[in-house]
Amino acid sequence: MDKATRVLVIGGGVGGLAVAIGLHQRGIDVEVVERDKDWKVYHVGIIVQANFVRALNMLGVGDDAVKAGYAYRGARFLDLDGNVLKELPGDTAVDGLPSDLGLTRPALHKVLTEKVLGLGIPVRLGVTFESLDDRGDAVDVVFTDGTRGTYDVVIGADGNYSAVRKALWPHAKPQYTGQGVWRYNVPRPEGLEWSDIYLGKDKGKAGYCPLTPEEMYIFAVFEEPGNPRFAPETLADEMRARLEGYGGLLAEAATHVTDPALVVYRPLEACIMPAPWYKGRIVVIGDAAHSATPHLGQGAAMAVEDAVVLAEELAERAVDDALAAFMERRFERAKLVGTSSIQLGEWDMHPERAGDPVALTDQIRRKLAEPV
Ligand SMILES: Cc1cc2nc3c(=O)[nH]c(=O)nc-3n(C[C@H](O)[C@H](O)[C@H](O)COP(=O)(O)OP(=O)(O)OC[C@H]3O[C@@H](n4cnc5c(N)ncnc54)[C@H](O)[C@@H]3O)c2cc1C
Repeated sequence: MDKATRVLVIGGGVGGLAVAIGLHQRGIDVEVVERDKDWKVYHVGIIVQANFVRALNMLGVGDDAVKAGYAYRGARFLDLDGNVLKELPGDTAVDGLPSDLGLTRPALHKVLTEKVLGLGIPVRLGVTFESLDDRGDAVDVVFTDGTRGTYDVVIGADGNYSAVRKALWPHAKPQYTGQGVWRYNVPRPEGLEWSDIYLGKDKGKAGYCPLTPEEMYIFAVFEEPGNPRFAPETLADEMRARLEGYGGLLAEAATHVTDPALVVYRPLEACIMPAPWYKGRIVVIGDAAHSATPHLGQGAAMAVEDAVVLAEELAERAVDDALAAFMERRFERAKLVGTSSIQLGEWDMHPERAGDPVALTDQIRRKLAEPV
C-alpha cells in the first residue's frame, strides 16, 4: 500500500476534528462529514488533564483550549462531609500550559471547529455514509446526500454509537455498566481551584469541577439498577436526591439543581474494542473504538491522542504499516483507561470488594502524563 493522500473522516466531534487538523497539517487532503446538521454538543462541562492539553498543543490549539477553559490545581478526594482526604495536584506536560482544565463542551467545540474551518478543511453537515466499499486499493463511499467519493483511508470518529464500527463489527455494542451519570452547571464558588470528588456514599460518588471563573459543573455517578429511563420533568428532583447527605461545598451547590431541562443524564455504556480497530483501510478512533466511563475524565483526551498518533503515522508510512503502528502505540493505553474506569465504577457499586480508588486514579494520572 502507498501512503494516504486523501482521507475521509466520519464524525465531526472531538476525535474527528482533531484528526482532521492533524492530517491537514501534514499535507494530507482530508474532509469531514457530520451527521448532525446543527453540529450541536451537550451544554455541560468536560474535565481534562495534562495529556489532553499536550495533545491539543501538538495540533496547535493548546493555548486556545486553555483560554476557553478554567485551569485548576488538580483533583481532590473528600469524605462525605467535605473534609479533604487526598490531593492529586496536576503536573503539566507542556511548559507554560496548565495540567488540569475544565471547559464547557461548547467552548471546546468552538476551539476545534474554528480551527478546522479556518484551515479550510471541507466539512459537510447533515451528511453521513450510506455504504463503504473497501476494494483493497481504496475505499468507495456513497453518501446520504447522493454524492460519492473515493479515499485512501476512512476514519470512523462517530462516537459511542458508531455506525462505522457497526458496519465493520456488527456484534460490537456498548454495554450498560450499571451506573448513570448526572451533570448540571452551577455557579462556581469564589476561591474554588480544585476538582473535588466526594467519597463515602453507597453505590456512587459525586463532585464538581470549575469550568469558567463564574461556572462549575456538578457530576454524580451512581448505580441505577435496571437502566431506568427517567421522565424529563423529574430529572432535577432525581439528581438532587442523589446529592443528599453530602456536606462541604457540594451541599450548597446541590441547591442550584432546580431546572429539569438543564440536567444532563446519561446511562454509562462502554465498548472497548479488542485490537485491531481497523479492517483494511477503514479505522475507528475515539469512543467508536474505546468508549470508557467518565471515572477518570479521559474520554476526550483518548480521542485527541488517537487523532495525533494516527495523523503522525499516516503521514510517515504506507497505509497498512501506519494503521499497524497506530494500534501498537494506542491499544494498551486506551485499554488501560477503559478497564480502569470500569473497575472504578465496579468498586462504587460493590464497596465490599473495592480496592483503593484514590490510589488507582493517582496511578493512572501518572501513567498518562507519559508521552504517547
Ligand atoms: C455528558 C457527557 C459528559 C462528558 N464529560 C467528559 C469529561 O468530563 N471528560 C472527558 O474526557 N470526556 C467526557 N465525556 C466523553 C467525551 O465527550 C468523549 O469521550 C469524546 O467526545 C469522544 O470523542 P469522539 O470524537 O470519539 O466522539 P464525539 O465527540 O461524541 O463525536 C462523535 C461525532 O460523530 C457524529 N456522528 C455520530 N454518528 C455519525 C454518523 N453515522 N455519521 C456522521 N457523524 C456521526 C456525532 O454527531 C458527533 O459529532 C463526556 C461525555 C458526555 C456524553
